[in-house]
Parts: sequence; structure tokens; C-alpha cells
Amino acid sequence: MLSLVLFALFVLTHACAVPQDAGASRWVPVSSPSFERELSIERGEGEPALVVRHDEVLTYVVEMDIGPFKGISVGQSGFRSRVVDSVEGEIGYFEAVFEGEQAGYVLDHRLRSRHHPSGDPKFESFDTQRGSENRKRQIRVQRGEDGFTEVYRFDGHCKGCKDQHHFVDPKWPCGKRKHCESKCKTAQHRVWQDPVSRSVPEHSLDYLSSIYLIRSLVRSDAESLGTPLLDKNRLWNLKLIKAEKKKIEVPLGEFACQRVLIEAQRPESESGGGKFRGLFGMKGSMKFWVHEKTGVLVQISGELPLGPLDLGVKIRLKEAQNAPEGLIALGR
Ligand SMILES: [Zn+2]
Ligand SMILES: [Zn+2]
Repeated sequence: MLSLVLFALFVLTHACAVPQDAGASRWVPVSSPSFERELSIERGEGEPALVVRHDEVLTYVVEMDIGPFKGISVGQSGFRSRVVDSVEGEIGYFEAVFEGEQAGYVLDHRLRSRHHPSGDPKFESFDTQRGSENRKRQIRVQRGEDGFTEVYRFDGHCKGCKDQHHFVDPKWPCGKRKHCESKCKTAQHRVWQDPVSRSVPEHSLDYLSSIYLIRSLVRSDAESLGTPLLDKNRLWNLKLIKAEKKKIEVPLGEFACQRVLIEAQRPESESGGGKFRGLFGMKGSMKFWVHEKTGVLVQISGELPLGPLDLGVKIRLKEAQNAPEGLIALGR
């Protein structure tokens, strides 16, 4: 195992392009200063709102167990939220990045949720993986005459076409250039598949947004909170449940934390098929520890499929910029 080459790099990108929204109505002026600016996204009668905090950046170290080596620090992951103005009102973004490389397997996984409560589409979710494997998924929740529709699209490897960019050189000197084979993993050979549509509940979220919804649960008196959740074109009922409290030590300090259980149930109206995937495709039982007062994510542990292996991964809070005021380490 000592010969195992391990190199991992986790980068938080701050420079995502913000698409400009067209249109000229419902301008929402913002009076609060940017450092405490928030966007509240209503989730229906009696439900606590989902809050997007402007310019908050959380950085985490990522530790993995590889063979006999436990808790190897292999880089960092980042979560960021921000609020931007558009001509059709404020837009809230959540973004999460996970980049790494292990024994030649390269992973660059980015999640992005775009909430536009007064616009259309009301909600979009992007899931992009690059590196040794490549794929893109996009969820769009649009307003319609009879409620809300999800348009889901994903990319796949081209099964064979006339595009010369998909052609590869022959293995033998006398061979001809021909279209690559289906096991090819080249990102540029992947094309968007036909989108699929379905009706969905108005306040459907994606997994990344539900991580931020934990804050609304922690700040409320309720013991649990539910939300419709979209994973690809499947609908789940997600339940966030308050569990035990414990002090958790992470690089930023020791925090009074509460564990939050995340349970996904298939609604009766959904046909079978498909397993529920956790954050960044994590498998098994994930443990979420959040700060007991603010609900800020302090530590996650779970199993992450990295190439042929499922590796034990811990994501631990290292830095917090512009986090809620109450996020204070014990003994400070
Ligand atoms: Zn092709
Ligand atoms: Zn190909």
C-alpha cells in the first residue's frame, strides 16, 4: 500500500460566471448592506423559508481512509452562497466544489443551485463531473399553466455519428480513422440527450439546497422538516431530522454540534427504480454534523465512490467567511 500514489487537490472557485437575466419587471431593491444580505425563498404555508446568505464561503479539509491509513488529509472542498440582482428580482446561488485525484483517478465535481423566486425558471440545478469520468446533469423547474414542470437533461457519450471530432486514429498503420467506441471517456464526445419533462411540486429542491435548509430546521423549534427533492428526474420526499448533540472538533475549532439525519422516501405516486444518491454521489449512511445554533455544516462523513473504490471520506470545516454571527467555536 505504501507504493500507492496519493495526490488530491480540492479547489474552491470563486469565479463562476453569472448569467445576466433578460426582461424588465419586478425589480427588487435591496436595502440591507451586502455583508448581511440574505434572500429568503418561501416554501409554502407554515414552512420555514430557505435562506441564501450573500457572499458566504465555507472551506473544508477532506480526509480519506485509504487501506490501513486513516484520516489522510488530501485537500479541500468548498461551499459558497451568494445573492445577485437581476431585472426580474434577486437570484440566490449555492455552489459546492469537490476536486481530487487518487491513484490516477481524477475527480472534479461541481454542484450549483440557482433560485430565482420571482423569475422563470424558478429553480435550476447543475451537476457537473469532470476528470476520469465526465457527465453533466441539469434540472430546470419552470412555471406552467397547471403548476410547475421539471425539465431534466443529461449528457451521454455519442453512440456514433459523422462528426469528425468524435473520430479517433486507427490502432494499426493500415487502419482508417473511425468513430470512437462507447467505452471512450472523452468529455468532448458527450452530447446532450433529449430532455425529459414531468410535473413537480412548486417548492422542489435539490440536494445541495437541502444542506442549507438544515439551517432553517436548526433555527426552528420543529424536530423535523420535509421537502420535495429532485434527483435527476426522480422525485423524493426528503426529511431532515434533529438527532443527538455532541462536540465536534474540526480545523476551525471545537463546535457544539447537532447531528441531522437525512432520510429520503419515495412518494407513492412515483414508480420504482433508481437509488437515492447523497451529496457528491456519496453512498451509505452519511453523517451530517451541524453547528447547533446556526446550522452551519461542520462535518460530513460518508463513503465516496472514487474510481473502483469506495473510500471513507470526512469533510471538516477549516475556514468560514461571512458566516452567520453565532458561529463561534467553544472556548473562544
Ligand atoms: Zn459522435
Ligand atoms: Zn468518444
